[in-house]
Amino acid sequence: MNNIIYECYLEAGKIAAKVRKESLTRIKEDIPLLEIAEYVEERIRVLGAKPAFPCNISINEIASHYTPQDNMPVFRKGDVVKLDLGAHIEGYIADTAATVEVGTNDHHLLIHACDEALKNAIGSVKNGVETSNIGKIIEDTIKERGFSPIKDLTGHNLQRYDLHAGISIPNYKSFFSHKVKKDNVFAIEPFATYGRGNIKHGKPFIFAINDKCKGKTAEDIRKKFESLPFTPRWIPGISLKELKGAREYFELVESDGKIVAQSEHTVIVNEDGCEIIT
Ligand code: MN
Ligand code: MN
Repeated sequence: MNNIIYECYLEAGKIAAKVRKESLTRIKEDIPLLEIAEYVEERIRVLGAKPAFPCNISINEIASHYTPQDNMPVFRKGDVVKLDLGAHIEGYIADTAATVEVGTNDHHLLIHACDEALKNAIGSVKNGVETSNIGKIIEDTIKERGFSPIKDLTGHNLQRYDLHAGISIPNYKSFFSHKVKKDNVFAIEPFATYGRGNIKHGKPFIFAINDKCKGKTAEDIRKKFESLPFTPRWIPGISLKELKGAREYFELVESDGKIVAQSEHTVIVNEDGCEIIT
């Protein structure tokens, strides 16, 4: 990896980590989710990066891909909140997430299981490792603690302006596998739940322009966000009808309706290990 690209990743990672830490402490009962989402996105810009996708704030059985559009909903006592954010510099993306409870401490074992799974997974990453082995470590760590990993969701490699660039890091010992290589950039993101760990789709709140999108609105959005995800509140007055063919990121919901935790870091693979940039 050349030095300029490496520096972009490091800076994006530093900003994403700082904003994650700052924002988690601001999640409190009765505050609108929107206040936190806008804080996250604004802080990323103020610190010199751009949001790589709309801040995801997913509560309880919602695992991922929810982003608020207005002042409802608000955080409620006992909510298990996944805050997932991304920052990019010149398209080089750092993606990170963590889970907190609002005013309670009832789910710390679940949250801890997820954090441990991430830590153990990261500890195994180096040049030549199989993605299915990373998945096995995540699965074992979560199951040993009595929970289920969500098999329908995966980590992913990152490339310039490409959030899911084709290689997945499974959250279980999958049949499919891929050899991790030096200089690959990966977001590793275990999800743990009390349920069986399957996913059903909710509504879409996040979209991305793809090659099927034609017309002026699509071109305007592409100029602003390339093919990275966006959400309607970023583009006041937008009609989604004008964006026929846009990719829809559906809300991802645990099928049994059970609470989910998530932990995520972005790493750069090197010869003997990996560097956590977030
Ligand atoms: Mn993420
Ligand atoms: Mn991710």
